[in-house]
Amino acid sequence: MCNNPPTPAATARPAATSTHLTFERLRGCGAATCCGSKFPKDAQAIYCWTTKTIVFLLDKDVLTGTSDLFLFESVSHEYGHHVQWLSGIMEASYLRTYRTPQQGDSWRRFELQANCLSGAFIGSVWRSLKRPQSDFADLRLLREDLSTHGKASNYAYWLNRGFQAKGPGACNTFAAKSRVS
Ligand SMILES: [Zn+2]
Repeated sequence: MCNNPPTPAATARPAATSTHLTFERLRGCGAATCCGSKFPKDAQAIYCWTTKTIVFLLDKDVLTGTSDLFLFESVSHEYGHHVQWLSGIMEASYLRTYRTPQQGDSWRRFELQANCLSGAFIGSVWRSLKRPQSDFADLRLLREDLSTHGKASNYAYWLNRGFQAKGPGACNTFAAKSRVS
């Protein structure tokens, strides 16, 4: 999950681009965030484009299951959005279609790419996590179909694609002819 789609005005680059990333914790949905909006219901974390901040929900469900791989994947996904920002992918792709009929498709490809980047990171450190392979298999089953983030099967596909590749080279969702619905 992530913040509302960015707007060109909200994401205008400063003259000197910083790679700095901030981390913020919240204890409940609906609380105000640094994004200027309330934390969305059903989200675990969001990335605020305007402040380059990952906002993570730390409610009692999280605090009683801190070893859940889903939490690791959530942070990885949001960090993927930060990489998309730093690399200029956001500007080159999504903002080009802002308020056009292609906006929804671009946004979905954008989310699927963040998920692939998340998988790439998890794959690159998987051995050091010392977790059973079943944990990753379970992770791929957690999503549901969302128009903004794609079908659950495609979400799982891109997560796994990045995981297998262990790097971002497998994550060009914008060139993909399938698996982006
Ligand atoms: Zn996202």
